[in-house]
Amino acid sequence: MEKFDCIVIGAGNGGLVAALTLQKKGKNVLILEKGLAPGGVATSFRRGRFEFDASLHELCGYGELGNKGEIDALFERLGIESKVEMMHAKEAFHVVDKLTKDEYSMPVGVDNFIEKMEEYVPGSRDSMTTFFGLCEDIQDALSYLHSEKGAIDEKDLYQKYPNFVQLAPYKVNAVLEKIKMPKKAIEILSTYWVYLGSPIDDLSFVHYASMVYSYVLYGPAIPTYTSHELSRVLENEFKNAGGTIYYLSEVEKIDVEDGEVTGVQTKDTSYATSHVIANLSPKVVYGKMISKENVPIENCQLENERILGARGVSIYLGLNASCEEIGFHHYTYFLSNNLNSKVEYKKMQEVFHGNVVGVVPNIVNKKASPEGTCILNLTSLIFGDAFDKLVNKENYFDVKEQLADFLIRSFEETTGISIREYIEEIEIATPLTFARYTGHPSGVIYGYMAKGYDNLLPRTFSEEEETRIKGLRFCGGFGARLSGFSSTYLNGEDVAMKTLGE
Ligand SMILES: Cc1cc2nc3c(=O)[nH]c(=O)nc-3n(C[C@H](O)[C@H](O)[C@H](O)COP(=O)(O)OP(=O)(O)OC[C@H]3O[C@@H](n4cnc5c(N)ncnc54)[C@H](O)[C@@H]3O)c2cc1C
Repeated sequence: MEKFDCIVIGAGNGGLVAALTLQKKGKNVLILEKGLAPGGVATSFRRGRFEFDASLHELCGYGELGNKGEIDALFERLGIESKVEMMHAKEAFHVVDKLTKDEYSMPVGVDNFIEKMEEYVPGSRDSMTTFFGLCEDIQDALSYLHSEKGAIDEKDLYQKYPNFVQLAPYKVNAVLEKIKMPKKAIEILSTYWVYLGSPIDDLSFVHYASMVYSYVLYGPAIPTYTSHELSRVLENEFKNAGGTIYYLSEVEKIDVEDGEVTGVQTKDTSYATSHVIANLSPKVVYGKMISKENVPIENCQLENERILGARGVSIYLGLNASCEEIGFHHYTYFLSNNLNSKVEYKKMQEVFHGNVVGVVPNIVNKKASPEGTCILNLTSLIFGDAFDKLVNKENYFDVKEQLADFLIRSFEETTGISIREYIEEIEIATPLTFARYTGHPSGVIYGYMAKGYDNLLPRTFSEEEETRIKGLRFCGGFGARLSGFSSTYLNGEDVAMKTLGE
């Protein structure tokens, strides 16, 4: 039987970074991936003459020369920084309030952002300046937490980062109201809530502020050749460091004896190891992969209490005209029925709700599709089980087409930009597509809801306590840093370092 120091199940962002980190530290690591390619949803696919990114709209925390962000710093540690080609958007976001028809375009750069907000919402300057001051404190504290890899000296944390410690328990709206930010500015500033999948009265201020700050400070980043480029580079680096990766190798069982991991099994092969890092949902791991008598009751209880995060519908459109011809001027279009995230979140428990994020990669990356063409990705989140209730074997393809029609219409009506006549290629992904592809329950694309105990800080501080089977850890979107490209990359490194420590 082949034996490894650590086996990583799943080659998503978290799994690849965890495996590469351990391999570079001299460990003998195996990745078992059920699919054919690295990256999980960080991949691309081809339709006709278009190469679509399956997931990445924008990466936060990737700086430019002389202004290093957390992710390029991580890539440098992993030895891949010079091997990827990244581009940056000049605009942080463009949001349209469907209710009032008001539009807000927010630039990159803290000063520019504050200035623009003052133009839209006179009297917001002081509170916006306070907000970005807090963001800076939070970012410093989070960098400290990451550098300590969880072995935190609490006294040190209190002394060095008092703002961070004080803000830690509060939700986004509570802090923004406390610093007297005008209501309209709060609404515009909370545009990114859909990226974390929780309305601002549930979402941790610290988490949200750190994400907004990264986007505004460095600008949203994308790789020139889709997220597949990032995944391939990580895979190559892992293999060059001596790591082993087997594709079409779905893990069915994790062997546990006396509370400790002893190996894993695919359909036809067993591997020995005392360390497993699962790039999967703990619900699947505890529910299906470990025999019942070996699953700690506390982990069962926790998994039963946790609420799954957002599901997603993505429409990938290859258009046979350029951005200029069609009339696209923004990279990211956030189209909201209501800028109040609490109201919008409720509406998004329906399937046909009209909250759409549209991304036009060609605005940032001229190479995103052949000359004279462009790409538009429309993504719409769905909360709860409305999709599962609506869809059955008979109506699935009809619902899929109705959804595409509805989202295209919503985009056209809100922006006044006609796209239908330019469609050359179209692909539609639903929660079912993501469920089949990733294996995550109900096809969720955002791990757990970032709410209560599942917000960033409680997750970070209780990660070790939740590790009740010796040698078993989790990484990726269901991990302690929650979902997103940056979070899953960083979490991969965190988990690798903890495994190494063990
Ligand atoms: C449409 C869409 C748009 C998004 N946009 C953005 C964005 O713009 N910015 C951003 O930061 N984030 C975005 N995200 C979120 C981000 O893509 C995810 O949070 C992140 O990629 C998840 O990484 P992960 O490490 O959890 O791995 P996953 O991508 O979930 O991969 C898990 C891997 O495990 C494998 N696997 C599962 N079960 C098994 C098994 N039993 N045996 C072996 N292998 C197994 C799967 O095949 C898969 O390769 C988006 C997601 C989607 C779907």
